[in-house]
Amino acid sequence: MQVPSLSLHAQGLRCSRLVVGVWRLAEWQMTSEDLLDFLHTCLDLGITTIDHADIYGDYTCEGLFGEALQKEPGLRDRLQLISKCGIKLVSSNRSQHQIKHYDTSRAHILTSVNNSLQQLHTDYLDLLLLHRPDPLMDADETAEALMSLIQSGKVRYVGVSNFTPSQYDLLASRLSVPLVTNQIEISVLHLDPFLDGTLDQCQRLRIAPMAWSPLGGGALFQRSEAQAQRIYTSLTKVGQELGGLREDQVALAWLLTHPANIVPILGTGNLDRIQAAVGAIDVKLTREQWFRIWSASTGTDVP
Ligand code: NAP
Repeated sequence: MQVPSLSLHAQGLRCSRLVVGVWRLAEWQMTSEDLLDFLHTCLDLGITTIDHADIYGDYTCEGLFGEALQKEPGLRDRLQLISKCGIKLVSSNRSQHQIKHYDTSRAHILTSVNNSLQQLHTDYLDLLLLHRPDPLMDADETAEALMSLIQSGKVRYVGVSNFTPSQYDLLASRLSVPLVTNQIEISVLHLDPFLDGTLDQCQRLRIAPMAWSPLGGGALFQRSEAQAQRIYTSLTKVGQELGGLREDQVALAWLLTHPANIVPILGTGNLDRIQAAVGAIDVKLTREQWFRIWSASTGTDVP
């Protein structure tokens, strides 16, 4: 089975329907060769889009990825590379930061992107996201920085992450290009975007949202909370009805069934789990199955 591609927006990036996120790359203990093998398998499966951020792995993941890419530069144009900026961590790799904070100033955005490009050994990002809403964001200044990155060719498309609809609207109002996605936390364990207007906005604007921690960051499998246990039991049952699907496949199919074209970002470096995720692509849950999982998550029937 092959993962299809979709456009995040009518004038937006074409990416794979499942994305691989490399937040945990530094924990995967992969050599550059391992990482290249991993990427080739992902590409064979149709997963072509990789989600980075400047801060992943305490500012090390882009560099690890870039080292591998440098060994096989031909891979670059077969991938869509996403990265993010706007969070400043207290880190031995950024000794000038005194407190964790956000920075969407022009100077920080431009510096961060130049650094991402250098670390990744590429001369463009397919998509740049502002990682978190910044209460001090000057929308004119931030928009101007994003436009200048597009004009210089360093960034093809721009978007946001963890923005409320009104934060999205504010920034969008100052840009002459669309914000092509809002990357948000959505999963069977995290239902807020279904209720707080975020997914409504995505459908209204016809932008595909990207789902981070689509399996609850692994909490679904640890089942240390009653909610996760209830959901897991429900996923098992629905998986049996669907001919023996795994719990992770049903949890992903639950997101993929939603009409907003949610794009799950897989957080595993385990190829068996990636392969299983690909098996969820064509699975459509019935309304009743979908709502059984919803009710298992909330712990109650819908009103
Ligand atoms: P996730 O897929 O929900 O969680 C990944 C974790 O779940 C890993 O520890 C993985 O362990 C475990 N896991 C996955 N499948 C499993 C299975 N079948 N059985 C048991 N354990 C399983 O996603 P995530 O890593 O939290 O987030 C995904 C991506 O979203 C990140 O890489 C990053 O790119 C992005 N992200 C964005 C933001 C943002 O603010 N924009 C925030 C967080 C994350 P193994 O590694 O052992 O498989």
